[in-house]
This record gives sequence, structure tokens and C-alpha cells, in this order.
Amino acid sequence: MSPQALAESTSIAPAVFTTDAFDAAVMKTYGRFAIALERGEGCRVWDTEGRSYLDFVAGIATCTLGHAHPVMTHAVTQQIQKLHHVSNLYYIPEQGALAAWLVANSCADRAFFCNSGAEANEGAIKLARKYAHTVLDIDEPVILTAQASFHGRTLATITATGQPKYQKNFSPLVPGFEYIPYNDIAALEATIARLETDGPRVAAIMLEALQGEGGVRPGDQAYFQRVREICDDRGILLILDEVQVGVGRTGKTWGYENLGIEPDVFTSAKGLGGGIPIGALMCKAKCNVFEPGDHASTYGGNPFACGVALAVCQTVGAPGFLENVRDRGEQLRAGLNQLAAQYSNLIDEVRGWGLINGLALKADAGFSSIDVVKSAMGDGLLLVPAGPQVVRYVPPLVVSAEEIDQALAATARALATLTAA
Ligand SMILES: *Cc1c(COP(=O)(O)O)cnc(C)c1O
Repeated sequence: MSPQALAESTSIAPAVFTTDAFDAAVMKTYGRFAIALERGEGCRVWDTEGRSYLDFVAGIATCTLGHAHPVMTHAVTQQIQKLHHVSNLYYIPEQGALAAWLVANSCADRAFFCNSGAEANEGAIKLARKYAHTVLDIDEPVILTAQASFHGRTLATITATGQPKYQKNFSPLVPGFEYIPYNDIAALEATIARLETDGPRVAAIMLEALQGEGGVRPGDQAYFQRVREICDDRGILLILDEVQVGVGRTGKTWGYENLGIEPDVFTSAKGLGGGIPIGALMCKAKCNVFEPGDHASTYGGNPFACGVALAVCQTVGAPGFLENVRDRGEQLRAGLNQLAAQYSNLIDEVRGWGLINGLALKADAGFSSIDVVKSAMGDGLLLVPAGPQVVRYVPPLVVSAEEIDQALAATARALATLTAA
């Protein structure tokens, strides 16, 4: 068979899709909604039954440019035809170009590439530990992380994640983590004092600039500025997990720009490749302590992922792009705040930055975030919960004013239906 005939004989999607056939072959690690999406364009996706949805999930804050964006299809096809993977045994021009863009457009001096958010955070944890051993002279370093945080699903990152539900049944966890309440300076100071009665132990403080999975909770400026001072005073590292909020999601390139501080280390993943798997670990020169052999990833920084991510980054960095993110975010929050005023008995508050926003329900609303998500889905709008009480809005960053209005109208209908029930 010729290579072309062989290519045409391979089938990459089943002719007929059924959830039964799917569940007979795939591990049941996710609670899935019973639709299957097969096509997308801009902020719209279509399921296998031909129904269309306005996508305010974007692959969980990942499809930065939406679906089938010309920049994505151009970068993907160009790079796959040229070279897609070679390993880090050799220099990779696309990797260098992406790193240069990230360094030029952030507070960091160096980048390391991997494939996901959890893997980027694993790298940050290893970097902080090596910094503790080799620079701070701490033998058993502790990293402080926040309650209600989310840092990923590997063993070290579920340990870093301050939510027992992600850790249940997976003990023994990784040693060297302690939890602090988010946005609470007194508790942070008390925890450091408690841990350091016999000398320095805390090597790093690792936080999200805005807690995504934990309920769309923005960081408090005064808190983060004080955390920065504490890290500077002690010479310890401030690590920010920017996996969900980085690359323009908040209306600024990085989440930390909303807080008036710079981290020593930060991680990026979700939006970085616009849906192509890639993660990045970024650090300042002073903590660039990895040497050859310390850390690696076979796929990490391959020409394909880096070429596409660079195209995404350049698009996010183009004039006017972030302005749209900020304007659409304000439009969305204004509309959600109107609903919050109308349903003040049900809605606690609206919070977020740029195009990561949460509609927080009251504990006694009588329904939870998943009910709103299901009702909206039946009406052609995709949303995702951030915990039991918060409905999360994370559309592609190219969303239009008209699409924001459509999402608001569908949310209003969902709330009306749920209150009538
Ligand atoms: C999604 C997420 C992760 C994990 O990323 P994966 O790519 O799923 O490993 C880590 N941190 C934050 C803040 C996230 O939102």
C-alpha cells in the first residue's frame, strides 16, 4: 500500500459514536455530560447529534483562540509538515523562539517546557527543593500551599493541592507540604513561626494568582504584596501557578500583573498552546538552579507544541487582543451583576478578572452550580462548575460582544427555570 493509501485507510473517529462503546473501553475517571462534541468553529461547537453550543468552557480555559482559528490551523499544518518531534538531544529552534517570547513578555529569565500543568508544577516543586538544598541550606524543605488550591493530579501536585477530596485513597502523600488559608497574612505568618521554631524550613510559598478550580477566587493585592515581602525578607521563593490564568485569560498577559508583584517562579499550561498540550516552568535568573540531568521530558518543548504555542502567544500579544479580553470581561460581569441583583436571594456574588469569572450561588439557593450548568447546556450554552457553588465562565479569548450577550441571556433563562422548579 502506498503511504497515501495507508493514510486514507486509517479511521481516526468511529463511524457511529455510542457512550456504551466508549465506557466499555475508557476508564471511568471523569463524570461526563452525555454529549459528544465533534466539531468547532470560533466559540461554537457541535455534538454528534448536530446540536450546536456556545462554548464558555473552551476545554477548561484552554482554547485561547477558540476552535479552528486560522492562526491555529495555519501553525498546526505548517509545523506538522516541517518537523514535529526530535527530542531534546538537539537544539530546537521553535523551543528557543517560544522561550524568548515568554522571557521578553514576563518577569522570568528562563523557561523549561513540558506537557501539562501538573508536570510544570512538578518542575516548580523540584526547582524549589533544589534551591532549598543548594542555596538556602535547608535539608527538609517545606513548601506552603493554599487551602482550596488546585495544582494537578500527579502525586506531588495532589499533595500540593489543599483539597482532601483529591488526596483521598492515594496516601502515602509526598512529604514537605503545609497548607495555609488563601488571602490570609496572619495565618501565613503563624504557620511559618510554627514550622521554624528550630530554624529555617520553609523553602517556598506556592499560590495561584486567582484560585480557579477552588471557586474563581482572585488573589488580594495587599496579601500578595505582603507575601512578596515575606519571601524577600527570608530569601525564599514565591511560586505562582498560572496554569489557568496565564497567557491573557485575565486581560493581562500574566495573572500576577493584577497583583502588582512578580513571582520568582511561575508555571503555565492550559491556554499556552490554545489546546495543543504544552506546559512551561518559568524562573528568574537567581533560582535558575537546574543543571544537565536534573530534569527532563521526552515530549517537552517539541517543535510542534512550541511552534503552535508561539503562534498563540503572538496572537495574544497583538495590539488590541487583551483589550477585547478586558472589555468582554467587564461586559460579562456587568450582565452577571444585573442577574445577581435580580436574584439576590440566590446569588452571592460575581467575581473574576478578564475572561475568568464565577457566578457564586448562595449556600441555601436550593440548587448547585451543576444544576445551572445542566440547564444552560440544555439551552445550548456550555459552562463548567468551579466547586459546588460556583458557575465558571471561561470562553475563548476571541469571544464577541454578541456571544457574551447570548451567554447572559441563556444564564438568565437557566436561573428562571431553576427558580420556577
Ligand atoms: C488545570 C490546572 C492544573 C493542572 O493542569 P493539567 O494540565 O491538568 O495537569 C494545575 N494548576 C491549575 C491552577 C490548574 O487550573
